[in-house]
Amino acid sequence: MNPVLAADLAGIDRLLTLVRDEALRGLHGLDRRAAAVAFTPPPSLPLPVQGGGMEGALAAFAERWEPGFSGSAGPRYLGFVTGGATPAALAGDWLAAAYDQNPAAGIDSGAPDLERETLAWLRELFGLGAAQQGAFVSGATLSNFVGLALAREWLGERKGIRVSETGVAALGPVRVLSGAPHSSIYKALSMLGIGRGAVQLVAKQPGREAVDLAQLAAALEQLCGEPCIVVANAGTVNTVDFDDLAAIAALRERYPFWLHVDAAFGAFAALSPQHAHLTTSIDLADSVCIDLHKWLNVPYDSAVQFTRHRDLQVRVFQNAAAYLGLPGDNPDFVHLTPENSRRLRALAAWFALNAYGREGHAEIVQRNIACAQDLGERIGKEPRLRLLAPVRMNVVCFTLAQNAGEARVQALVRRLRDAGEVFMTPSVYEGSWCLRAAFSNWRTTHEDVERVMRALVAALP
Ligand SMILES: *Cc1c(COP(=O)(O)O)cnc(C)c1O
Repeated sequence: MNPVLAADLAGIDRLLTLVRDEALRGLHGLDRRAAAVAFTPPPSLPLPVQGGGMEGALAAFAERWEPGFSGSAGPRYLGFVTGGATPAALAGDWLAAAYDQNPAAGIDSGAPDLERETLAWLRELFGLGAAQQGAFVSGATLSNFVGLALAREWLGERKGIRVSETGVAALGPVRVLSGAPHSSIYKALSMLGIGRGAVQLVAKQPGREAVDLAQLAAALEQLCGEPCIVVANAGTVNTVDFDDLAAIAALRERYPFWLHVDAAFGAFAALSPQHAHLTTSIDLADSVCIDLHKWLNVPYDSAVQFTRHRDLQVRVFQNAAAYLGLPGDNPDFVHLTPENSRRLRALAAWFALNAYGREGHAEIVQRNIACAQDLGERIGKEPRLRLLAPVRMNVVCFTLAQNAGEARVQALVRRLRDAGEVFMTPSVYEGSWCLRAAFSNWRTTHEDVERVMRALVAALP
């Protein structure tokens, strides 16, 4: 064995304690760390030839790269809709790496069964029925990709072709109807050979991001019975609006379409009594996307996809090889997702659900929503700012009361970031440049909202 490697193996107890100490320094320092940083990378170095062992790598990391890391795990990082990592989620993630299981197939380990148990718990958490079967993927983009891949296979089936065998060309043009699709839907369609241009935007309800049902029905009518895909949204990123999922699902009695629901973070509305009604009909979907590295507060690289059509999923993703066997009733994950070998990413979610249960996660969701409402009220009272939409759930979408052009909004985003107290992302809503403050971190409290508001007022032009 290489002597540096042998020394690391011999000293692993002490070395992992050093890593633990570094992690704790990072976590205890979160409150002082800038929420976001504009970092100039250090001069690049050549590939190490001998290597400095783990301790050398740790020192180099701490010196060269750690200062450029943001406080994205902390309570005032309000960009995108990202959460942090609860203590139990972090523990599960560490152990996933330590045990390094590959839950692709169950021939050597019980790890796939742990993933199945986690999926069953998540199904219960989100109120999905037993017909919805799932798998872990790396994020909501991949979850949308898998759902739309199944839709593509289903469209082929309607025409008597197997897209998984003959290719997408045999399918001809595909139509994807949606009111306010997330950008990842376009990316997924590009990867699937369906193309970004397949999206046909359907008019939204006035003052809303939810699709106008009559317009959706009219668009379906115009297809003259040609099967298509409808992407319904459960939680839009700017204003957290929800399509009327039950009404959309009911349209399937008159028109043939695959219903995919992008509930990346909106599915967590099931944990808030005032919002739960928005998600009760997610179960009617043919495929469902739910992100976990957002509101479940597990480390990145975690989402789930659910579907009622596992037969189609096996057709699309099967990876037949003699040593893996053919997929049976309870197919291995290797036959269900884009990856073959994969990380036991379920372990972080399993730890989180085990540690905090439904009640713990409901408290996080409800506190985040209350904090968003709090910030919304404060912004509503500030004459130099203007809310662009009511705070429906956990996102505050607002802009400058005057001259809210791109340059002034971007400058405000930069000033806020450089002050370090809070990070928000810019967006465009209904043609207006705006900022979004998205609450999904388990640590955020009303004290943070006060600090955010102070920083915001100080950054105003
Ligand atoms: C975040 C998000 C996605 C993409 O999620 P990733 O985890 O970044 O791939 C898709 N849809 C919605 C509604 C989202 O909020």
